[in-house]
This record gives sequence, structure tokens and C-alpha cells, in this order.
Amino acid sequence: MSELRWHPLLREWVTVAPWRQDRTYHPDAADCPLCPTKPGGPETEIEEPTYYIAVFENRFPSYTGDQGRCEVVCYTSDHDSSLGEQPVEHIRDLVEVWQDRFAELSRLPKVKYVYIFENRGEEIGVTLSHPHGQIYAYPFVPALLERELDSFKRHQRETGSCLYCDVLAGEVQGTRTVATEEDWIAFVPPFARWPYELHLAPRGHVGTITELTDGQAAGLARVLKVVLRKYDKLFGKPLPYVMAMHQRPPGRGHRYFHFHIEFYPPNRSADKLKYLAGSELGAGAFVLDVRAEETAKQLREVPG
Ligand SMILES: [Zn+2]
Ligand SMILES: [Zn+2]
Ligand SMILES: [Zn+2]
Repeated sequence: MSELRWHPLLREWVTVAPWRQDRTYHPDAADCPLCPTKPGGPETEIEEPTYYIAVFENRFPSYTGDQGRCEVVCYTSDHDSSLGEQPVEHIRDLVEVWQDRFAELSRLPKVKYVYIFENRGEEIGVTLSHPHGQIYAYPFVPALLERELDSFKRHQRETGSCLYCDVLAGEVQGTRTVATEEDWIAFVPPFARWPYELHLAPRGHVGTITELTDGQAAGLARVLKVVLRKYDKLFGKPLPYVMAMHQRPPGRGHRYFHFHIEFYPPNRSADKLKYLAGSELGAGAFVLDVRAEETAKQLREVPG
């Protein structure tokens, strides 16, 4: 089992899972463990000749057994594809998979937070290039989410309204809007910490992906595709990114929280990356050299 160590200065958990050292590192496409098992070929994680969407437990998990769960979500059996390249109907089915896994993992007794995310691109440190995302079911609420929850709670107490609904109300002029789809808006928040950071959220107050109406779930599939296509066309090559779904923790509380998805591409231009350095890593103060309004305009003008 992995070891949880408390960081008393930052008041957050650090997880030590030494077996992750041995995880598969940049295998050739022929040896990809996330591809379907080819007839006569080496056995992969998915022993089927093909598949549509596949979910299984991570072989090198950060959390196991009593502590929580780590799952891998393979978006497609096509090794050379990506989430943004999938047809909208396929992404709609993936939304349903996310809903299903979120609901099930939320029910595990020790689980305090279910986090759906994707790391894409070698620049982010991805070790398997096959299109896939992950789900971590943590035995604690991760520090960043704890902080967000606290901000939502304070705002609710001080103003009586939802913090994120108020953030969205500030986007009516559309200068930072990148795409809209029915109930959804994708925008570069004025407080973005990465140059091409995007937030994607339902305008209606929804706490988790499982609370979306069918219409909202379909809208999410459409707007997700638009956002990812824009990202890939921005510099004419697949843009690396972290996609982070921020949802309400399991249980009945935290009604003030508003579901949103955050994207952090590390690029500040086609060939330059933003590295976290002294100010960001050592002091937690992000410094940007471009305004949200400018990057939003660029992204808005890229066809979706
Ligand atoms: Zn593969
Ligand atoms: Zn809200
Ligand atoms: Zn957030």
C-alpha cells in the first residue's frame, strides 16, 4: 500500500508509491499496453481484438485497496488518435463512462475525492502515448480542491451566491470567451495561470458530471471536441495539456461547488514551453507574459 505523509507547512498530503518507478516508460507502438491484444502478439491490458472505450485498474497505482483507486480510461483502440479526433457521439459515450465511474468510485467507503483527468503529450511527462485519461479516487480531498472548496464556501457565506456562477456572470461581454454550446461556455479566465489555460463549465449550477441533464451531457461532448480541435490547430500540431475535472466531493455537502473543467497547456508559443520556476514553484506566484483577452482572441479565431 502507498504511504501518505503529511506536509505540515503546506498542510497537504504527499503520497509515496515506490512501485511506480517500474511503470512502463515510452514503449514502442508495437508494445503499447493500452492497444488491443493483437492475434499472436504480446498480451496487453485489454485482451480483446478491438474495443470502443475501455476502463481498467492502473497496474501501477498511486492508491489501492482500502486507500482508494486508480483507473485508466482508454478513449479508443486507435493508438494514433486523440480525444479531440473522436466523433461527437463517441465523446458523448465517454461522458457516460465518466459519469458511471464517478458514481461508482464515489460510493467506495474510504474515498473522499474522485478526480477525472488527462495528461496529454510528452512535454507533460506522459509515458504512454495511446489516447487515454485517468481517474484517481483519493482517500483525502487534494489540496487544490480543498482550497477551491474553501473559496466557494466563503463566497457563499459572504454573498449568498455561487462563486463560479458569479465568475461566469463576468464573462457576458465575451472578450475571453472561446466557444459556447447550449449550456456550456469555454473561456480563458481573467485569473489564468497558464497562457492558453481554458475553463469549460455549464452556465447552470451543477456540482458533478453525474448531475448533468442529457442535453448538458450532449453539449459537453460537442464543446469538448471544439475546444480540443482548437488546441490542436492553434500551432498546427497536437498541443500537450492537462485536463482537470473539478467536481464536488462525494456525499451530500458542498452544494455551493460548481463543476468545471480546467485545461493547462504548458506552451507559451508553438515552440516555447512555460516552465514552473522560482516564483511559481518556490513561492506559488504565477507570472504570465500575456493577457487572457489576447489568448482568448487567438483561440476564438482558430476554427473548431
Ligand atoms: Zn496503443
Ligand atoms: Zn454555480
Ligand atoms: Zn477549479
